[in-house]
Amino acid sequence: MDAYDVIVVGAGNAAMCAALAARERGCSVVALERAPLEERGGNTTFTAGAIRVVYNGLEDLLELMPDLSEEERRTTDFGTYSADQYFDDMARVTQNRANPDLVELLVRQSHPTLKWLRGKGMRFVPIYGRQAFKVDGRFKFWGGLTIEAWGGGPGLVEAHHKTAAASGIEVIYEAHATSLLADDDGVRGVKVKTDGRTRELHAKAVVLACGGFEANTDWRTRYLGPNWDLAKVRGSRFNTGDGIRMALEIGAQSCGNWSGCHAVGWDRNAPEFGDLAVGDGFQKHSYPFGIMVNAKGLRFVDEGADFRNYTYAKYGRVILEQPGQFAWQIFDQKVTHLLRDEYRIRQVTKAQADSLEELAGKLDDVDPARFLATAREYNAAVDQSVAFNPNVKDGRAAKGLAVPKSNWANTLDKPPFLAFAVTCGITFTFGGLRITTEGQVVDTDGKPIPGLFAAGELVGDIFYFNYPGGTGLMSGAVFGRIAGNSAAAATGRN
Ligand SMILES: Cc1cc2nc3c(=O)[nH]c(=O)nc-3n(C[C@H](O)[C@H](O)[C@H](O)COP(=O)(O)OP(=O)(O)OC[C@H]3O[C@@H](n4cnc5c(N)ncnc54)[C@H](O)[C@@H]3O)c2cc1C
Repeated sequence: MDAYDVIVVGAGNAAMCAALAARERGCSVVALERAPLEERGGNTTFTAGAIRVVYNGLEDLLELMPDLSEEERRTTDFGTYSADQYFDDMARVTQNRANPDLVELLVRQSHPTLKWLRGKGMRFVPIYGRQAFKVDGRFKFWGGLTIEAWGGGPGLVEAHHKTAAASGIEVIYEAHATSLLADDDGVRGVKVKTDGRTRELHAKAVVLACGGFEANTDWRTRYLGPNWDLAKVRGSRFNTGDGIRMALEIGAQSCGNWSGCHAVGWDRNAPEFGDLAVGDGFQKHSYPFGIMVNAKGLRFVDEGADFRNYTYAKYGRVILEQPGQFAWQIFDQKVTHLLRDEYRIRQVTKAQADSLEELAGKLDDVDPARFLATAREYNAAVDQSVAFNPNVKDGRAAKGLAVPKSNWANTLDKPPFLAFAVTCGITFTFGGLRITTEGQVVDTDGKPIPGLFAAGELVGDIFYFNYPGGTGLMSGAVFGRIAGNSAAAATGRN
């Protein structure tokens, strides 16, 4: 019989933070990874590694990025991202639904947790380009998202596993956890399938950190609703809700926004699941600088309602609701230099034309006459008296339209015009398990289940309706570390 102090289910960011925390307290730890080694790390590997963290000035950033160059310090306005701003962002985008105790931990522990990871060898760098545009020779960061893991998601996962190996954490690949071993005294291990055989692994504590149910077509349709079976999965094909199911089977309590998820505009011809060779390159996040039209040739959303960070995660759903579940994003040459790298990948569904009339004929499945009318009405509505500035919410609006555009409205008049076809790409689901502030999974009577802890995507009651960019990794790190510490305490280690 195999026995460990702590079993961690999963090997993404939340799981590895839990494993590191438990190991740091002297526990023997094994991480069970359903994926083969080449696909390890779940959604974490697919990210760009952007992390939303509190910082009150350059000093705080230097604790996380001590190797920032003199040149970078001189030419960059990093601003601040205070705890109050983080609280406000979480409250606003979740419509005040997020659990205040969990948000308190997320925000207050964000900087200390990244400092802890930095101490374990993780490196962080500023997100130039995506989160700061150069205006008058100076970069200015906007939207509260300033740093990313070195090497993006793959770099973060690599660093996690390097640290884990050096600290003596065992990782078993192609190990599919299928159920929990539990009785009235609590959880005693997991059943796991490896090489076609099911066996029991015993432990004093189990941490579930094996993702949401975004890659489960059946559950998506059941909980998110009709048409969600048609969404593309942006990341791992392995996050099928197993952790949530296993816990519910032994009486855990569900909570949070089970009909909600993070979903974005994603290339219309992207594959069913994420492709690690492309990573997050199928996303198309520069829509605030253009317009989006649906099959009827109509705009359907305020592309400039807020900074991209605060709208992208809810606009995937809006695209899914359009006829045929697709949209085209349209830009002219005045803004193409601002388009993110992902617009220049080889696997892109794109049209180009020298006039709007020519473009109308190239937008597959769109009513051309109605598109032309939409573009002309929009052009006429742009308030050109306000200067365009991509680093601030510039208030340059297109008003008086059925669907207004609140910021960054530019006329479409400088050819060649570029258009990109998108559909809905689901990132992760919001509903999940109820946990205490110690990371313990709670049962349907509200009591902690002895020996069971959870972190990451499968925790409910944190995100509702929408999500501030970069919070997924931060939440996984904060609650992963807490769950690992609590699991260690449950084994009697301190
Ligand atoms: C394309 C893309 C880009 C993103 N960009 C960002 C970003 O820049 N910043 C940000 O903060 N967030 C981003 N996110 C969201 C972010 O990826 C997640 O919030 C975060 O990585 C979740 O971490 P996790 O550890 O909970 O889950 P994951 O990283 O998905 O890990 C889950 C793990 O569980 C394993 N697993 C699943 N089922 C089982 C089972 N039955 N047995 C054993 N193992 C199992 C999986 O293989 C995987 O190892 C992005 C997501 C995607 C898809």
